[in-house]
Amino acid sequence: MRDIISSSLYQNALIQLEEAVSSMKADPNIVERLKYPKRAIQVSVPVRLDDGTVKNFEGYRVQHNMTLGPGKGGLRFHPSVSLSETAALAMLMTFKCSLVGLPLGGAKGGVRVDPLSLSRQELQSLARRYAIEIGPFIGPDNDIPAPDIGTDSQTMAWFMDTYSQIHGFSIPGVVTGKPIVVGGSLGRAESTGKGVAFCVNFAYERLNKRIDSSTTVAIHGFGKVGVPAAIDLHQQGAKICAVSDVSGGIYNKNGLDIEAVISWAKGKHLLANYQGDCEKITNEELFELDVDVLIPAAIDGVITKENAPKIRARLIAEGANGPITKEAVDILNDNGIFIIPDILCNAGGVIVSYFEWVQGLQHFFWDLDQINKKLHDILYDAFKRVTHNSDLYNVDMKTAAMISSLQRLTGAMRLRGMWP
Ligand code: NAD
Repeated sequence: MRDIISSSLYQNALIQLEEAVSSMKADPNIVERLKYPKRAIQVSVPVRLDDGTVKNFEGYRVQHNMTLGPGKGGLRFHPSVSLSETAALAMLMTFKCSLVGLPLGGAKGGVRVDPLSLSRQELQSLARRYAIEIGPFIGPDNDIPAPDIGTDSQTMAWFMDTYSQIHGFSIPGVVTGKPIVVGGSLGRAESTGKGVAFCVNFAYERLNKRIDSSTTVAIHGFGKVGVPAAIDLHQQGAKICAVSDVSGGIYNKNGLDIEAVISWAKGKHLLANYQGDCEKITNEELFELDVDVLIPAAIDGVITKENAPKIRARLIAEGANGPITKEAVDILNDNGIFIIPDILCNAGGVIVSYFEWVQGLQHFFWDLDQINKKLHDILYDAFKRVTHNSDLYNVDMKTAAMISSLQRLTGAMRLRGMWP
């Protein structure tokens, strides 16, 4: 277990858990079981590269807790992937699924690789080999991966196809985030970003404010979460003043031409090379901009005790998982900055993944209005429970989200008991 708990992200998740446990006085015997994953799988993923050589990549799948249902969580292709990071993200998935009332547990997977360094064929081989290696441990009733950093609907289609070929028939329920034509759900691609935008609205309502043309937004990470969040908030009238990706950021205090920026990013171009009406900024500078809403939507641990004191945004919506370290959360709270916690803010993705899984099992598909309405209602209910617990226990939003999650999860664990 030493490897599992080694990362700062894992330690951060444990601190959040312990803070919530002490505020709500939860049963320590139940909580002891939540500190470690149920199962952690480490696999070798050999790939034959286009030049004929074979390269081995390290892959993981961690199932943290399955009390509420099958494991659910993304699959990440990124150079920073490690066993401990994957385990921490699996733990966050357990808390997220419980918070938003899904009959799902928490899991996460990943391969340590820079996907931009591989060709399409090499990526396909990687996804398929990884699916084969973790195949015995996953399935529609067991553990259901989805896209995350560096993976997309195409990765999920390859994954589903490989798993289905092994079993001899089509098994769409093994992954979510698939393309619509092979059993995906309407609304899944934009669901996480849409959920972030819903949560910003709920937070504004709590702060007695409204999103309008004076609302300014900066987004760190312009991928599957950042882009739809930008589209939604822009449609509501907000100015998207800055966005960034791994190459750096762009800024216009009067608002970027967001359609042009999105079509640039969708063409797989880096923002550092974008030529439009804007100035170039670094990722660090983006965090310090004088905007109303800051959305970290890239990787974890980017807002730290070093840059937190320089943040001028009034509201931070955690689109990414774990973007703010514990010390930084304390600084931001002291500075009166409202934080929408990750397990609430980015839960839109797993909620619509759940819808996709249910639709796939029923072979009956819903329309987009139905999906977005259900997504809104589930998030609104969760947001209300979190703010209620924040007031009741006199704790910050991060702790309140964890309390709200633990109320359901520990109740279920107690009822199921421990065997043997
Ligand atoms: P993505 O791969 O689609 O996009 C990631 C973006 O972040 C890209 O623009 C990339 O260039 C940028 N990025 C990567 N490393 C960076 C760095 N070091 N500095 C600055 N930018 C960097 O990934 P995504 O699916 O949008 O996921 C983003 C975050 O949201 C992750 O933390 C992920 O776990 C979380 N999340 C995603 C989903 C989902 O449905 N995709 C759901 C919940 C949470």
